[in-house]
Amino acid sequence: MNIILIGPPGAGKGTQAQKLVASRDMMQLSTGDMLRAARTSGTEMGNRVAEVMDKGDLVTDEIVIGLIEEKLEQGSAGGFIFDGFPRTLAQADALGALLARHNTGLHAVIELVVDDAALVGRIVKRAAEAQAAGQPVRKDDTPEVFDDRLRAYYKQTAPLLGYYHAKGQLQRVDGMGSMDTVAAQIATILDA
Ligand code: AMP
Repeated sequence: MNIILIGPPGAGKGTQAQKLVASRDMMQLSTGDMLRAARTSGTEMGNRVAEVMDKGDLVTDEIVIGLIEEKLEQGSAGGFIFDGFPRTLAQADALGALLARHNTGLHAVIELVVDDAALVGRIVKRAAEAQAAGQPVRKDDTPEVFDDRLRAYYKQTAPLLGYYHAKGQLQRVDGMGSMDTVAAQIATILDA
């Protein structure tokens, strides 16, 4: 079973992906996490990626599709949770082709629906919690960069909602509830 979690920054995609990893034999593929790992590598590509991420823009399709392609080669018995990927129509097309090449497809595309007004509060809270725990604080978890991330979401990623709706694959979940309430709604979809 392969699923996409889609929604604006701060919607809870990463949190819900981790819950699914813990409760099912699925593998989380977060391009954001992969890119954060790449940026610490000190390579030319890592430095370029860091600059783009810190501005809240999207890195090139070529880079993220390459990262996903590598992970798909490794396989996952329980399937993949795509978290933060695809974020553009080109990425969505590429994912479809990659999955087809592996003789598999998408089981569901789950949109986490959260009020815009709640999002910035969530990412500011995430930054404060990371700092309090002595963990690295994401440079893009600031109200200023958040505006650009949200704009990138509406401009480049939100069109995917129509794309998957047209394929009959889009399912919407109310992302405003508690973590467990949201997880229960997702479980209902996956068990249907
Ligand atoms: P995230 O952790 O998903 O919020 O991603 C953090 C940042 O990584 C984004 O703001 C983008 O700069 C970059 N990024 C993550 N995933 C993608 C993607 N699928 N396509 C392009 N850029 C991405």
